[in-house]
Amino acid sequence: IRFDHSKAKGIEKVLKSLKISDEELVKVMQILEMEMEFGLNPSTHKNAVVKMYPTYVRHISDGTELGQILALDLGGTNFRILLINLLGHGRIDIQSKIFLIPQSLASARLTQWTKGFSCANVVNEDVVKLLQTAINDKDLNVDCVALVNDTVGTLMACAYQDPHTSVGLILGTGTNACYMEQLDKVGTWDGDYNEPKQTIINMEWGAFGDNGRLNHIRTKYDEEVDLSSMNPSKQLFEKMISGMYMGEIVRLIIIDLMQQELLFLGHNQGYGDYNAPLYSRGGFYTKYVSTVETDEGIGFSNTRRVLEDMGIRNPTFDDCAIVQHICRNVSKRAARLAGAAVLINRINKPVITVGVDGSLYRYHPRFKRNMEKCMQTLVNENIKFKLALSDDGSGKGAALVAAVADCLA
Ligand code: ADP
Repeated sequence: IRFDHSKAKGIEKVLKSLKISDEELVKVMQILEMEMEFGLNPSTHKNAVVKMYPTYVRHISDGTELGQILALDLGGTNFRILLINLLGHGRIDIQSKIFLIPQSLASARLTQWTKGFSCANVVNEDVVKLLQTAINDKDLNVDCVALVNDTVGTLMACAYQDPHTSVGLILGTGTNACYMEQLDKVGTWDGDYNEPKQTIINMEWGAFGDNGRLNHIRTKYDEEVDLSSMNPSKQLFEKMISGMYMGEIVRLIIIDLMQQELLFLGHNQGYGDYNAPLYSRGGFYTKYVSTVETDEGIGFSNTRRVLEDMGIRNPTFDDCAIVQHICRNVSKRAARLAGAAVLINRINKPVITVGVDGSLYRYHPRFKRNMEKCMQTLVNENIKFKLALSDDGSGKGAALVAAVADCLA
């Protein structure tokens, strides 16, 4: 698609700032590997940005586990309750209820929560004990067996069906990953050294870059997203990638291009209507990025619908094409960063499956393809890898961790 010459230059400049070359990605991978070593080393762990927490999960499910398990999955957007029947042979029966976490949850009181389980009265307490006490108070016959990070759940759920699974990846409201590591590489390990000499490491990679080491690839839009977020200067890698921020990056670029008079120049398009969703923070949902990118060809019917929802009337062909270009570049950057960060080469195995969960990965029409394409150029030729959607992975996998723990007990 060609735009008229003067416009093209300005737009290209913006899009160029979002491009990360393969060479730059290799550098990002080297920095990440260094940060991972800092996280795993007891003398540097405290100040490390990528924390690399040992999870104490050492056995991967092998598809034979049996039993009925209740799993509670507190995500950033949804709270899922699953009753899971493990039937063996990789078969699972699930009944689930999903509750949307209401926006009130964004009130001041709850901003003190970090992802997972931590609030004013819970910090430093054993949350499993607290949950068990609450269960017992209700006279329910349920034993709390395991507290599991969602990345670990995703890895386990995928492993139940595919024994080559060695990585769990979340691409939803937030982003994070875990992988199986050899104990001799985990300096912070304080457990026993019996077989299996391995443990799943929860990387907490969302915080990659919080010490400024990724500033060279961050744009002014990333800075703006960060400054207006609830946790400024934290989770900078996550803010370039995950569902909570992607739509907002697109919105900020659109606004910037409008201010440069490169977009929506027609009359009566809503420019100047400052009540339009386009002008409010979070007004451009990440699911719109998916919608815009599903348009093929020159009709732009989905893009037009999204822009109408944003308060923009009668967008021109060029307007639609530019908005789609922005979405493609923002989501491609995210997919490439996530793909590079999986660091497949570091996992010393010839065949590797990456289990992935999260709505961004699930619903975005190109995320998987873009990740794979980028990984194909970065991963050593002798390694066969694949990305596998792990359906309801985090909840299902939590049940599997509980089942494996129960089998071993
Ligand atoms: P959680 O991470 O809270 O467990 P999800 O995996 O459902 O929950 O992720 C929710 C995130 O996914 C939201 O930030 C939302 O913006 C994003 N999302 C939802 N639908 C889509 C979609 N169709 N395309 C891209 N992203 C989406």
